Amino acid sequence: MIPHYDVAVVGMGIVGLAHALAAARAGLKVVVIDREPAARGASIRNFGFVTVSGQARGEMWGLARRTRDVWAEVAPQAGIAVDQAGLTVLAHRPEAEAVMQAFMETEMGEGCEILTPGALARRMDCEGLAPFRAALRSDHELRVEPRLALPALAAWLQQEQGVAFMPATAVTGCETGRLSTSRGEVRAEHIFICSGDDLSSLFPDVLARHEVQRCKLQMLRLAATGRRLATPIMADLSLARYEGYAALPEAEALTQRLRKECGERLDAGVHLIAVQSADGSLVVGDSHEYGASPDPFQRLEMDELILDALRESMPGYAAPVVERWIGFYAWSPREPWFTEEVLPGVHMTLVTCGAGMSSGFAIGERVVAAATNNSMKGAA
Ligand SMILES: Cc1cc2nc3c(=O)[nH]c(=O)nc-3n(C[C@H](O)[C@H](O)[C@H](O)COP(=O)(O)OP(=O)(O)OC[C@H]3O[C@@H](n4cnc5c(N)ncnc54)[C@H](O)[C@@H]3O)c2cc1C
Repeated sequence: MIPHYDVAVVGMGIVGLAHALAAARAGLKVVVIDREPAARGASIRNFGFVTVSGQARGEMWGLARRTRDVWAEVAPQAGIAVDQAGLTVLAHRPEAEAVMQAFMETEMGEGCEILTPGALARRMDCEGLAPFRAALRSDHELRVEPRLALPALAAWLQQEQGVAFMPATAVTGCETGRLSTSRGEVRAEHIFICSGDDLSSLFPDVLARHEVQRCKLQMLRLAATGRRLATPIMADLSLARYEGYAALPEAEALTQRLRKECGERLDAGVHLIAVQSADGSLVVGDSHEYGASPDPFQRLEMDELILDALRESMPGYAAPVVERWIGFYAWSPREPWFTEEVLPGVHMTLVTCGAGMSSGFAIGERVVAAATNNSMKGAA
């Protein structure tokens, strides 16, 4: 017998699981299909950093706030530990401090404050940090261990929300109401395709129209030093990179100075994010290389640029590298995310700005509500 569901989701990365959660909460019978036995894509290779401050002003910032709230609600239910909360951005250069001041004057400054080095030292251990001029503290963020969080979220969806899973099953074709898979046909009234950076299997013409390419990132894990890091850390390069800061006019002077002082890092898209895992090890990144098909090789000189950024801000945390890996995410110069009804009842949703952990839940809610309400209106 051909299995029949209200909703079929292709992809068990965070974007697919977010659609599955929204559909299950709407009382729909859901199946999630993925070619891998377990999530292996961008969603387990990232920092697990659910970031609000620094997201592009407007829609992305709002999506991130809602997504953070869903993580905070779901994590304890699904047995996902929140390893760190909040964010500290260190300003080493006066131009970086000026960007922070400008940020605080926008609506995005709510829940944030700028602290002197002395004031920050009263809140957290700053001994391992390099001298800095000021720090932006944001209360919005949280951090989970993605390689643990994704399987835990999938298990909770299956056991507590009644979502069915078809792992190790490739989706090879899609029509309205029907998927062809490597294990036979699946029928569903609504189909959501959340296939991440797979640019060739399903609707490649749609992906080409949205100018979707890949972004390759290099990541490192450093051994524990015995120091606890109260929050994730970012620094000057992040203020020139993350849209919520970088789009402010004050960021131009910072970028110019960084170009003179560390242009190689800017060219490689290197900036500092350092988050700490429960065992005290530090996940540090990252670099950005864009293209239709960036090669899969880890470049040691790129890792050195990332470590230079770490040593500039956090010399007391420099420790042996214990893991290196590469991640890829779907990226488009056109838009941070999109959803498109590619056939009646078939929606394709991609986050194309490298912020799926920080926006996925809100996007899933929005897309599923719009698609299922529309079809109910159509049936009325
Ligand atoms: C190194 C790195 C660091 C990052 N850091 C952060 C961060 O800290 N915060 C943040 O918000 N975001 C971060 N991101 C971005 C974030 O990880 C992505 O935006 C997000 O994971 C994308 O989720 P996804 O579900 O679309 O893709 P994926 O996780 O790649 O999942 C797509 C799934 O679809 C499946 N699939 C595709 N095609 C088919 C098919 N035909 N049949 C069956 N299955 C199929 C794949 O097997 C895969 O499991 C980072 C990304 C990387 C790579």
